[in-house]
Amino acid sequence: MQKTSSLVQSPLFQDSGIEGLPFLERVKISYARAKAVANVYNLTVSDILHLSRRYWEFHNDPILIMDGSVGTLLTIQYNLCLGTLAHFAENRPDLQRIISEVLNFDISGQYCLTEVNHGLDAINIETTATLQSNGEFILHTPHSGAAKYMPPTAPFGIPCVAIIFARLMVAEEDHGIRGFVVMLHHGVSMLPGITCKLLPPRGGSRPVGHSLTYFNRVYLPSGALLGDLERPKDVRECFFQNIHRVITGTLSMGTLALSALRIACYIGTSYSLERQVLNGSNGVPRPISSFSTQYIPLLTSIAQTIVFRAFGEDMYEQFVNRDVSIAQKHLLAAVFKTTVFRHTLDILVDIGDRCGAQGLFEINQLSVIHADIRGAAIAEGDILGISIRFAIDILRNRVRVPEAAYPDDLLARHEHSIIQELKEVWRSTSNQRNTHSEGLLLPHCRGVLEAVGHRCAYEAAIAKGVPRPLINLFVASLFQLDPAWYSENAELSRWRQKNLLLERATELYPDLAQLLPLLEIESYVTAPIVSKNRWNKYVSNLPSYPTEQLAKL
Ligand SMILES: Cc1cc2nc3c(=O)[nH]c(=O)nc-3n(C[C@H](O)[C@H](O)[C@H](O)COP(=O)(O)OP(=O)(O)OC[C@H]3O[C@@H](n4cnc5c(N)ncnc54)[C@H](O)[C@@H]3O)c2cc1C
Repeated sequence: MQKTSSLVQSPLFQDSGIEGLPFLERVKISYARAKAVANVYNLTVSDILHLSRRYWEFHNDPILIMDGSVGTLLTIQYNLCLGTLAHFAENRPDLQRIISEVLNFDISGQYCLTEVNHGLDAINIETTATLQSNGEFILHTPHSGAAKYMPPTAPFGIPCVAIIFARLMVAEEDHGIRGFVVMLHHGVSMLPGITCKLLPPRGGSRPVGHSLTYFNRVYLPSGALLGDLERPKDVRECFFQNIHRVITGTLSMGTLALSALRIACYIGTSYSLERQVLNGSNGVPRPISSFSTQYIPLLTSIAQTIVFRAFGEDMYEQFVNRDVSIAQKHLLAAVFKTTVFRHTLDILVDIGDRCGAQGLFEINQLSVIHADIRGAAIAEGDILGISIRFAIDILRNRVRVPEAAYPDDLLARHEHSIIQELKEVWRSTSNQRNTHSEGLLLPHCRGVLEAVGHRCAYEAAIAKGVPRPLINLFVASLFQLDPAWYSENAELSRWRQKNLLLERATELYPDLAQLLPLLEIESYVTAPIVSKNRWNKYVSNLPSYPTEQLAKL
């Protein structure tokens, strides 16, 4: 049972009127919810630094995606802000007070890396922290394009500390990018020299109050610096060292997507089992789940969800394995996030569409989770950005994908073939102008990581004992992503591919309702469309307009 199973039933999480509240009210509720979840988990520094079982359980808790603003606030708080602070805390007693306040969510902990002009190329950020003769620093935003972009730094009643990444300037020399601990406000107004502009709602997603943050020659004490003053030998290496918590963040984001999948499958399936239409030929009612256009997407989504949960568990085990290098962990996290997000983004829309107009309403969770997941796909390792980085490394043999346990199985053959094909493209174009090989390769980078991810997920599912019919359906559901390859290399014609998908889904259809408990998600589903009772209760609480009194005759 999840640690938040009682909390999730409390009015703080069950109040269905929240959708209609003004934006700022909603942001305050996001913070209140985040604090309540933090209290339940009571995480320690060690949990966060060493990715303990408890920390993993926290990331797998569906409450983080049931309200995506909670997931956003808490993953920034613990993973990015606290994880970075704790990394530098050894021999820094001055950091202990901040660490314990961030840990208890007594203050909000932010992580300001991205700037308006520098996102994926954050290595080129322009905020400066200039060393003064007395050991202090002056933190400065040189122009509006260097404003910190996205982290929710606006005051919402709770004080806020942030790690601000800035270019360390020593005697007019650039010493690379470092993190600086900066108090931004005490809950009401920004501290002197710091300006925050609240960005408008993203639209469709749960609100956290994304902001722009500017520094106008703000003095920082010498202890604000995380790390040393030296000019690094390898500026790039130093940058990635300093932002290393983003690697764990990439894994965390993938884990949040697993909860999104579980919720979506539960809602779509429950609705489809319950909703009936009259059969055109004999007028007998039938559930919409009985149409292949309904049960194929539902069952393939369930199969993918269960296989990806096994994949997630396998990723966690590798992450806490000390024998696995940081570089390899980063590759694994990128493969995991890219693969799971590809399907999550598709499934949320597909299942939403299969619920008709109901799928469009925030109250039914699918559309709002989709909007939240779109954000998560970009944050802490943008899926295209990390795909490009690691696919090119794979093609250049700079990193090695995990060895295949079943190299003769279909997904391993597909993965091997995709990589070999692109290695050939790489070799044959490496003498040509860079732009030509770049143009050829970049569009296929996501496909490379997904091919690796599908094979790894398949192997994890076998290792974790996922029932074979679900694994078989998972495999068949992937044919449509690259039908020509399966036709050319696996003697599976287009029609054979379609029939295999239909056969495998139809075999599982009688068990559709029995698969729901495997998702272990019911308590986190608030969508009223999952049952008639819930729908009736929901409608009875909707505001209704009084009838106009008829004038007396
Ligand atoms: C929900 C959410 C929360 C966030 N929270 C934080 C936070 O707490 N702290 C923080 O610092 N930041 C945060 N961010 C910002 C996030 O880290 C950036 O959005 C992300 O790094 C991408 O940067 P960008 O949005 O500027 O996109 P850009 O860098 O402008 O990229 C946009 C697109 O350009 C293309 N592109 C860019 N570079 C390349 C390239 N080299 N090769 C090929 N194509 C390229 C890609 O299509 C890419 O998707 C958050 C973002 C989101 C969505």
